[in-house]
Amino acid sequence: MKLRIQKKKTKYPSRELEYTQYLKEKEQEWEKLCLNCGACCGAYDDPCRHLEKNKKTNRFFCKIYSQRLGIQKTVSGELFKCVPIKKLLPENWKNSRFCAYKKKQNKL
Ligand code: SF4
Ligand code: SF4
Repeated sequence: MKLRIQKKKTKYPSRELEYTQYLKEKEQEWEKLCLNCGACCGAYDDPCRHLEKNKKTNRFFCKIYSQRLGIQKTVSGELFKCVPIKKLLPENWKNSRFCAYKKKQNKL
């Protein structure tokens, strides 16, 4: 007897779209972990010149976030490479103890 395989109903029209949406949601979850403390951008040291503090919330943000990756300069003029936070996680940097991702990583 043939048992019909029931297709699982999802809110997405295709598996590809479902997977794309899944990745997008995971990315958003990952982004939400950030406390915007600015430690990874030198907030408590020699900050990146694109780092800005929101005076109402006391949180930091990047003025050029979508174009941030690549060579950047600190306020004092030092050149450095801005990389995705995932690349920094295996290392320790100044004040990395404040980073929510590092804290999460250390708990695993
Ligand atoms: S360019 Fe990079 S290092 Fe500079 S503020 Fe933006 S995210 Fe931080
Ligand atoms: S140090 Fe971590 S928690 Fe703080 S702003 Fe950077 S990525 Fe976000």
